[in-house]
Amino acid sequence: MQVHASEAQIDHVVAQIRAAGLKEHVSRGSELVIIGAIGDENKLDLAHFEILPGVERVNRVTKQYKIVSRDSHPAGSVVKVRGIAIGGPQIQVIAGPCSVETQEQMDLAADAVAAAGCRLMRGGAFKPRTSPYAFQGLGVTGLEYFQSAARRHKLPVVTELMDIRMLDTFMEYDVDVIQIGARNMQNFDLLKEVGRVNKPIILKRGLSATISEWLMAAEYIAAGGNHNIIFCERGIRTFETAYRNVLDVTAIPVLKRETHLPVIVDPSHAGGKAWMVPALAQAAIAAGADGLLVEMHPNPCDAWCDADQALTPDELKTLMVTLGAIANAIGRSI
Ligand code: PEP
Ligand code: MN
Repeated sequence: MQVHASEAQIDHVVAQIRAAGLKEHVSRGSELVIIGAIGDENKLDLAHFEILPGVERVNRVTKQYKIVSRDSHPAGSVVKVRGIAIGGPQIQVIAGPCSVETQEQMDLAADAVAAAGCRLMRGGAFKPRTSPYAFQGLGVTGLEYFQSAARRHKLPVVTELMDIRMLDTFMEYDVDVIQIGARNMQNFDLLKEVGRVNKPIILKRGLSATISEWLMAAEYIAAGGNHNIIFCERGIRTFETAYRNVLDVTAIPVLKRETHLPVIVDPSHAGGKAWMVPALAQAAIAAGADGLLVEMHPNPCDAWCDADQALTPDELKTLMVTLGAIANAIGRSI
């Protein structure tokens, strides 16, 4: 309450807390009176209290994200994808091209992913492109090429869902992990829908999203019943223009503390250049990430999308060896 708040104003705030079905705790100091509200804070509208006469400030002391909070599950949780654990001691590297192009390209990519020792594969059939004139992805045909290439190596597939209307198709094609892209992190209707299915979800961080907004986006999915959520840091937009995005390494320990869910990093969309990928990938694993989402193309020069940032099959192999050494140093494996 404000320093000179009257008893009548204090009583009025207390009455409003009680009217919402909560209890009050009034603490009287030498100068200030602090009124605590005890009970389900969702029943209180903070903005409503802020405008009551005599009120100085209203603070929420509990977190708005409940299910995804580490408070609800102090031990970290592991998300299983066809028996592969994400969030356990073993680090998972999900590799593959930015977009699905041809059957041959996907077959070669799957061979390279498996040869490097990665256990999951990525590839976009529906692409969120800045320009409407750029290649938009092969759509359903892309899902077909992807599945037929990945199945030969029993690699679970990770692919982006941009539109709720394609969710049934994703289920039909048995997509193993649904990726929600950075541009859709706050597409709340999409989040609610993927909250109703039992497929693991990779939730990428929005281009300018705060950690708190990102956690709340995950809470949307969790609130629908799907708790198989993996956070993916992919770089954020800042004043810097020397690279595509700034990889927020700080977000990794912060997120690991705030949520029990696994956290992975996409070094490809962060740096935007293939030569930066190993350095960023190494930093991510050293900082405690549970895995990576990396772009690799059998022939980067021919890639239809994000050619600059794709590793070659050999570069992916080399990276996996380096990451193995870092994983060992921090008591994990790859
Ligand atoms: C992607 O992973 O293919 C992609 C488009 O990434 P982002 O949503 O992070 O831009
Ligand atoms: Mn890409």
